Amino acid sequence: MGRTIGIDLGTTNSVVAFLEHDRAEVIPNPEGSKTTPSVVFFKEDGEIIVGELAKRQVVSHSRHIIRSVKRLMGQRYSQLKDNLDRFPFEIVQGEDDRILIDVGSKRVSPEEVSAEVLKKMKATAEGFLGEIINEAVITVPAYFNDNQRQATKKAAELAGLQVMRIINEPTAASLAYGLRKEKNEKISVFDFGGGTFDISILELSEDIFEVRSTNGDTHLGGDDIDAILYDYIRQRIQDTHGIDVQQDVQAVQRVWECAEKVKCELSTLKKTTISLPFIVADESGPKHFAEELLREKFTELIQPILERLIPTCRRALMDAKLSTTDITTVLLIGGSTRIPAVQEMVKEFFGKTPCKSVNPDEAVAVGAAIQSGVISGALQEVLLLDVTPLSLGIELQGGISSVLIPRNSNIPTTATKRFTTVSDNQTAVRIHVLQGERKRASENRTLAYFRLIDIASAPKEVPEVEVKFHIDANGILNVSATDLSSGSMKEVKVEAHQQVTEAGIDQIVREAEEKTEEDRMFVEQSRKKTRAEKIYSMLSSFIESEGAKLTEEDRDEIKEAMIRLDFAIQQNDYDEMEKAEKILLELGEKYSELFYIYKITEM
Ligand code: AMP
Repeated sequence: MGRTIGIDLGTTNSVVAFLEHDRAEVIPNPEGSKTTPSVVFFKEDGEIIVGELAKRQVVSHSRHIIRSVKRLMGQRYSQLKDNLDRFPFEIVQGEDDRILIDVGSKRVSPEEVSAEVLKKMKATAEGFLGEIINEAVITVPAYFNDNQRQATKKAAELAGLQVMRIINEPTAASLAYGLRKEKNEKISVFDFGGGTFDISILELSEDIFEVRSTNGDTHLGGDDIDAILYDYIRQRIQDTHGIDVQQDVQAVQRVWECAEKVKCELSTLKKTTISLPFIVADESGPKHFAEELLREKFTELIQPILERLIPTCRRALMDAKLSTTDITTVLLIGGSTRIPAVQEMVKEFFGKTPCKSVNPDEAVAVGAAIQSGVISGALQEVLLLDVTPLSLGIELQGGISSVLIPRNSNIPTTATKRFTTVSDNQTAVRIHVLQGERKRASENRTLAYFRLIDIASAPKEVPEVEVKFHIDANGILNVSATDLSSGSMKEVKVEAHQQVTEAGIDQIVREAEEKTEEDRMFVEQSRKKTRAEKIYSMLSSFIESEGAKLTEEDRDEIKEAMIRLDFAIQQNDYDEMEKAEKILLELGEKYSELFYIYKITEM
């Protein structure tokens, strides 16, 4: 296998790392920087520029330069249409409600824009390592849904990269931190970037990484801090010169850039100067603006942002059923955690100084490179927390699949569900273990069959059979079934359930999506049939035990309806089943007293 890389495909910046002698290292881009702005400039002559050079030209070509495209990945136009003003470029509705970005010379999809960033990261790695790179692990926020993950994968394909795995950013960061640490820890990964804020609580033990909870605010990031400073500077210029910069597109862009620069400077300096020469002009000529800004004042201005971070942290801890004192380490990642007031807030909330051993800009890419090493076999001692690529469940009566562990669940994981018998005195059940996304069990992959015997004899639907799925950190699935009344238990181990290629997974998921309607019909019909069978069997018992109390005429009427129902069941004629059921229900009314007695005796 050739060399593999890890890519942190960020909203604001992207980073690529590789593994060398068991150590992950970040690769600097040809401009000499370890972080590359996720900014793409589509020039009119067809040339595409990515990174710092594109970012620098935003002032003059703002409509053709795409930033923060990660926010659009896997989204539909209609989901977004009320927030279009958050984006400084033109977004239009494409076929099937897809998002397209008008870059002047053409329209491009978010995946195509992201692919340009990924191509740049691929080229950076290839230039540095002197070899062609075809495979990568790519990170996404923990809150990304399936569509967003699929869109990221598609972007990688367009960039000529095969995705070895998509992993969650906090998991990657904790990998960068936790590799070869022996002790058990509960860590909180506080990720405050340019566009989003995320917090995840993870448990690390003996190189097993388990995500206990994750929470976040997808509309809170460094951009919001820039916006506060932008408003402040704009107001100060207005107060000083009586002119609103808002009227001049270029001035607006310069103030935005200045706001971000001042913000970054105040992370290391106690005061800085807002310097904007020739920022506005009136009849008397150009005007300059220069004013000192203290870190204290800046902290005061961003207080509303800081306050929004705390409730999210609380929710994450609550979901993980932990308190701040349980957290042994707080990791800071994302550029905005460089702000001293953010670090102070974290320290105060968690009651401990955040860990400085990981670089907030690089940790995610480093973790992705480590994961690529685990998958390629270059790194063997890490048992990495992973996700189940496809749903796991069992087959129910009627051929329906019942999911116990949904796809993308973090492992190790355990799930239990209770089931019951369908016939009276049924003392055995067959457990058919399935992997796949279809509701129709026969369309999923069989992982195992086994029988649970010695179920305590009882009327149907009375026994309780508990089925338990457990996937350990090695990805081994253990399935057990226990009759809660007799204690009879049987279990099987499935080792190969993860062995599906990424392409195979994609196809299975896509097919399940395409067949949603067909599966819905199947489940509906299957339930109808099960219900009809139940009614039939109930009536058989009724005739057997209470038949003697009926007149011959009544008995024949019921029997005839039963034959009709049985025939409909055999023929899978769902309309006919419904009709026969209706007749039987009417008869049920007539003999309600007897049915009632029968029901009582059944209990
Ligand atoms: P990320 O999404 O992790 O790349 O973070 C990008 C955000 O971090 C942007 O809003 C940057 O302005 C911000 N950022 C980067 N460096 C600093 C710094 N030194 N101080 C404050 N914010 C920073």
